Amino acid sequence: MNRGGRRQFRPHHGHGGHGHTGYGQQQQQQPVQVISPAGDDEPLTITMLGAGQEVGRSCCVIEHRGKKIVCDAGLHPAHPGLGSLPFIDEVDWSTVDAILVTHFHVDHAAALPYIMEKTNFKDGNGKVYMTHATKAIYGLTMMDTVRINDQNPDVSGKLYDESDVQSSWQSTIAVDYHQDIIISGGLRFTPYHAGHVLGASMFMIEIAGLKILYTGDYSREEDRHLVIAEIPPIKPDVLICESTFGVHTLPDRKEKEEQFTTLVSNIVKRGGKCLMPIPSFGNGQELALLLDEYWNEHVELQNIPVYFASGLFQRGMRVYKTYVHTMNQNIRSRFARRDNPFDFKFVKWLKDPKKLLLNDHQKSGPCVVMASAQFMSFGLSRELLEEWSSDSKNGVIVTGYSIEGTMARTLLSEPDHIESLKGGNIPRRLTVKEISFGAHVDYAQNSKFIQEIGAQHIVLVHGEASQMGRLRAALRDTYATRGQEINIHTPRNCEPLVLTFRQERVVKAIGSLAADRPVHGSPLKGLLVSKDFSYTLLDPKDLKDFTGLSTSTLIQKQSIPIGVDWSVIRWHLEGMYGEVEDGVDEEGRAILIIMNAIKVVQISEIVVEIQWSSNSSNDMIADSALAVLLGIDGSPATVKLTSIPHQHAHHDHRHSHSHSEELTNGNSINGNISGNEEFDKIKMFLEAHFGQVSGPNISVQEGDEDELMVMTVTIDDIVAKLDLISMRVESDSPDLKRRVETVLEMALTTLKPLSRSFIGSGVDMSLENVAVAA
Ligand SMILES: [Zn+2]
Ligand SMILES: [Zn+2]
Repeated sequence: MNRGGRRQFRPHHGHGGHGHTGYGQQQQQQPVQVISPAGDDEPLTITMLGAGQEVGRSCCVIEHRGKKIVCDAGLHPAHPGLGSLPFIDEVDWSTVDAILVTHFHVDHAAALPYIMEKTNFKDGNGKVYMTHATKAIYGLTMMDTVRINDQNPDVSGKLYDESDVQSSWQSTIAVDYHQDIIISGGLRFTPYHAGHVLGASMFMIEIAGLKILYTGDYSREEDRHLVIAEIPPIKPDVLICESTFGVHTLPDRKEKEEQFTTLVSNIVKRGGKCLMPIPSFGNGQELALLLDEYWNEHVELQNIPVYFASGLFQRGMRVYKTYVHTMNQNIRSRFARRDNPFDFKFVKWLKDPKKLLLNDHQKSGPCVVMASAQFMSFGLSRELLEEWSSDSKNGVIVTGYSIEGTMARTLLSEPDHIESLKGGNIPRRLTVKEISFGAHVDYAQNSKFIQEIGAQHIVLVHGEASQMGRLRAALRDTYATRGQEINIHTPRNCEPLVLTFRQERVVKAIGSLAADRPVHGSPLKGLLVSKDFSYTLLDPKDLKDFTGLSTSTLIQKQSIPIGVDWSVIRWHLEGMYGEVEDGVDEEGRAILIIMNAIKVVQISEIVVEIQWSSNSSNDMIADSALAVLLGIDGSPATVKLTSIPHQHAHHDHRHSHSHSEELTNGNSINGNISGNEEFDKIKMFLEAHFGQVSGPNISVQEGDEDELMVMTVTIDDIVAKLDLISMRVESDSPDLKRRVETVLEMALTTLKPLSRSFIGSGVDMSLENVAVAA
């Protein structure tokens, strides 16, 4: 880089004339005029396909310089069938570069199987990204949604079935918080914590240098288990921000918790049944933590049962236990003290909720039931509501944000009667109270966040029109009193918002062109190289020094003495790099080719040589290949392979490869951030050792939650199950269990260097380990 120096020119583009910039004045020299490349001031277009002046079916299309990103793909919970989808016909899905999903809630993620399976999205190169926890819970909730939709009489047209959910889940890419993900040249994003629910993230998106922060739903209030939303370290140009609560002020957290627990205990103390519709995840876990703590402190309540009546909630608890390391200090320190907050003492799973609906329960005493919500439009919470509605001792507590047009919202107006799904009306005598644990920001938090972010443009989404209007007015007042300028937009669905930015384009002159201080007025001539929206000016003679366009190649060779069978070498390399090509070279020696770049040649029985054409990326691969080869001799896998030679000959690998391709439906994913690909590799390892391996899948039978994300190894009718969330192995045969564990450990060690973001960090999430980590 220091050869010939390197200088930057900051031209004022769009003037076409004589830019006198600060740079030149400071240098006492005028800057060199560089004609701006065409296409400057290209607009940024934001189009809401849903959640524009409404809450529900979030779907936001961001376009700039030919790149297209979609944030969220939700359904509208108040509309049935196709009507619940965002306005997806407005977009050619095959041209979408990426879909980023902020969290697993229905109004942000549930349109995904439809878009991925039923539109032309598959014809393009776009990929879908979400955090690891979101992916895990998304899989669970979607399967549940499919089942619930089957029960819902209102759904006129089913949008998708289990197999759509399954295959869309398979090709979703799981990412980590704070990971910098490069989608393509000039297009990248980073997820940040958003609070709200487990796994929720905001996305800082960068398109050709322009930065957009999309918040999704977020909260800045410390609760029992979540980390609050972060302020990203980078200032965006545009903030796309939720506005659910508009200008409302939510009560203080402690006050709210007290109100809530008092309300619940009042209902049960008067002999009533307390119904709480909860979305199966997030809110529910938080309230269960709260009630369990309260019951623990109040002996007089301890004979009154508290139930959650949701198999999904029960299954989800496993995910919660797995992702304790992404939660806040409260949870992590309790966990470190071996007090797992999610092992509830009083809150119990009601396996058979139908029991509550049998007639004799009327005589039975008070209870608290958290039931799957769907905003009480249908499902268990609706059934219980109809059953309990006419008794004034009973009570409903609405704890989340209730979407317009749903039963939960209707109830809040305390009507005399409610409509029964079986037909007719039922008197409403039970008490109705709302305490919002919605985990959204209120006005104070939102406006503080917006000011701290400091973007030039604010786009309000995910709020009802009236709320949004008031929020916009309040924000404008705040900024006006400070004499600050702010642009606040509240686009309606399908009304594109077009923003233009005066972006400074930097052209770097390098090499011999930059050897002398530029003189004002003298033109600088050279070759303009454009890559990923950045520009470099250089002398054609410098081309090979400063670009990847090399004109000569340097072949590097390194020989390694190694005393193992060729098939063992191949096995180790495949474990590290996936597919390894084999063949013979000009001299008839056996060769293996790694990642199309590195050749491993069998020189003799005891010597191999690696050869590669030198450049920075090949050198790196060669380094890693060298490390793998040098490690082979001491590896326990080698000992096993050598002592049981027939379990994995060459052709076995071919077999396992075609197998894993089947598994992913050909959705091979570039890069190494996919949970999927790692599952494939683990499967490959297991197959190499044990032959028959099935799974993973997310399809579960009702009540059989143990089949979730599990791979099954079968040898002579003995079965071992590997749980891909916790990475634990279960088997009736201790021997097989141990063997599978050994292979798994090997697989994880090998995968680790390629994939730092394994689901659940790829470590055993046992109490001991977490205690150390916390
Ligand atoms: Zn949400
Ligand atoms: Zn939402």
